[in-house]
Amino acid sequence: MESQSIMKIRNISMTYHTLDGEIETLKNIDLDVNKGDIITIVGPSGCGKSTLLSIIAGLVNPSKGEVFINDKKVNGTNKDIGYMFQRDHLFEWRTIMGNVLIGLEIQDKVTDEKKKFAEKLLDTYGLEDFKNNYPNQLSGGMRQRVALIRTLAIEPEILLLDEPFSALDYQTRLAIADEIGTILKKEGKTALMVTHDIAEAMSV
Ligand code: ADP
Ligand code: MG
Repeated sequence: MESQSIMKIRNISMTYHTLDGEIETLKNIDLDVNKGDIITIVGPSGCGKSTLLSIIAGLVNPSKGEVFINDKKVNGTNKDIGYMFQRDHLFEWRTIMGNVLIGLEIQDKVTDEKKKFAEKLLDTYGLEDFKNNYPNQLSGGMRQRVALIRTLAIEPEILLLDEPFSALDYQTRLAIADEIGTILKKEGKTALMVTHDIAEAMSV
């Protein structure tokens, strides 16, 4: 039968070589992610979560092992993957709409249709009145939603989320984790999130 898994992680190991010696960060990691899965990996700070996401995103080469996305071996970055970092990285001098379109601009893919899609995401997720505002006029939770919409605007098949809520206060964090879980399910995305916070993991 045809395999359903959209992402296959096979025997990944990562050792960093530094002046102080070797740091064995990941050892023999295997994971299959099926289409539509929303998976959270929980682990303490320094256990290699960001390293794993960077390897999946093709930003870092593993010491050993392979990652396959749609049965194609990862070798460099991949337009099917959207990467949302721990901090929202919004550009303060750009409007919310300007921020949401930046991924498309970088890929030279701004079309009327894609713009409309991005606007619709802002409308659907409670930011319709803020398109022309600047990031510093938004709450932390709203900024994080903008960062997610910016990632969704390039229509990646898979989203990688690296502790996306840890900069927020506790209450906001749980609320936005729940919201973002809802958005990911509604948009039919496959997502892999890493966090050190069990409560955050449970609310997605
Ligand atoms: P986490 O995201 O779980 O906090 P990281 O993947 O950032 O963990 O880091 C795992 C380990 O690898 C840590 O000990 C960290 O110091 C080390 N590390 C991460 N990136 C590098 C790098 N570029 N060079 C050397 N060591 C690194
Ligand atoms: Mg990290």
